[in-house]
Amino acid sequence: MATLAKADFLTAADLAAWQDGRWARQRERVQASPLYRRLWAGRKAPARLADLPALPLSDKAMLRASQRATPPFGDYLAVEPEAIVRIHRTSGTTGEAMNIALSAEDAADTATVGARAQAAAGLGPGHRVVHCLNYQLWMGGFTDHTTLEATGAAVIPFGVGNSEKLVQTIRDLGITAISCTPSYPAVLERTIATHFPGLSPRDLGLGLGLFGGEAGLDDPAFRGRLESIWGFKARNANYGVSDVFCNFAGQCEQQTDLHFMGLDVLWPELIEPEIGDVLPWREGATGELVLTHLERACQPLARFRTGDIVELTGLGRCVCGRHAPRFRVIGRSDDMVVVRGLNVFPTTVAAALGSFAELSAEYRIRLAGGGPYDALPVEAELAIGQVISAGLADAIAARIKREIGATARVTLLPPGSLPRTEGKTRRVVREGGSS
Ligand SMILES: [Zn+2]
Repeated sequence: MATLAKADFLTAADLAAWQDGRWARQRERVQASPLYRRLWAGRKAPARLADLPALPLSDKAMLRASQRATPPFGDYLAVEPEAIVRIHRTSGTTGEAMNIALSAEDAADTATVGARAQAAAGLGPGHRVVHCLNYQLWMGGFTDHTTLEATGAAVIPFGVGNSEKLVQTIRDLGITAISCTPSYPAVLERTIATHFPGLSPRDLGLGLGLFGGEAGLDDPAFRGRLESIWGFKARNANYGVSDVFCNFAGQCEQQTDLHFMGLDVLWPELIEPEIGDVLPWREGATGELVLTHLERACQPLARFRTGDIVELTGLGRCVCGRHAPRFRVIGRSDDMVVVRGLNVFPTTVAAALGSFAELSAEYRIRLAGGGPYDALPVEAELAIGQVISAGLADAIAARIKREIGATARVTLLPPGSLPRTEGKTRRVVREGGSS
């Protein structure tokens, strides 16, 4: 057995012996990886997990370079090819595909750990959940299907697109829950308004919305709007890092921070993103999440930089009974926009915009050139029925200044002018460069 039953309910002390036991085996796997042998330059993986910071950090660019030099899986593949039972191909924002291999045990662990997140959000036997994530070139689509199923719920695979058929399917099958990106309900609302006169989103009877793939749900105004339009509980049941574990964190029914559900298979650290120094793992700490596999056969990673900046919000027992640490994702280190020395993330901009009823939930931060920036260029879209006014733009800029501390240049856009996407919505657009 490669996972520990109910690991999300155990304390750090309860987990310690298990973690040490897994690491005793896992360090042999990582040490066999040419990529890590190169990176560690002759050093051995430490026997104690607490000594991991003696090793250098690894990152996505190293994995990409490794796959480029040793296709298709990179020289961090630690098993014979016959042990691989599943291959995911993902296309990142750079457009360069990554190939992720899983053994049968890796795949089973992935489903078990992800199911903890979906179950904590309220999914389980008796639910019928329609799964509307993209299955193509994205690990989440298929993998989340397996995690949803592992909760005991009945899963209807749907994928993206064909939203008219989706509405009909929800009605015909008595579906109780939907799994999709936070921006997808807006697409469905349009479909209902256009093709189902007299029907409102609430009439579909969905009780639970399981979201992932974007951070939008962290904005209370966005969440509130979604819950009031649809009449379901909106939960982020799905946070992960495709190269590490596809889904290892989600919200419970009692609060809106993410529980870190995978302490039996992952060893987390926090680092200062610019310098790489290790930060103490304590409540209130903010830093980039770094992960080491305690259990992974095919492509084991150690001290892997996720690129996500997180804040640890709770290490004690949650009302739900879980001791799994709680955290919030503040942003991507590469989505971070530095405005006059201030670190600004799209999520905090979304929170400031969310307090204006005159706006839809859509916005962009459109950067020209490579910086440095002395003001934040924000494009905010008006809600239906609203008209552009200079006073509103000024009020938004003033609120951003007050809540974030940055000077903003706000441009208002007519209702419906920003594209709705069925996948991840890009909030920071860097003109003349990649984002
Ligand atoms: Zn909880």
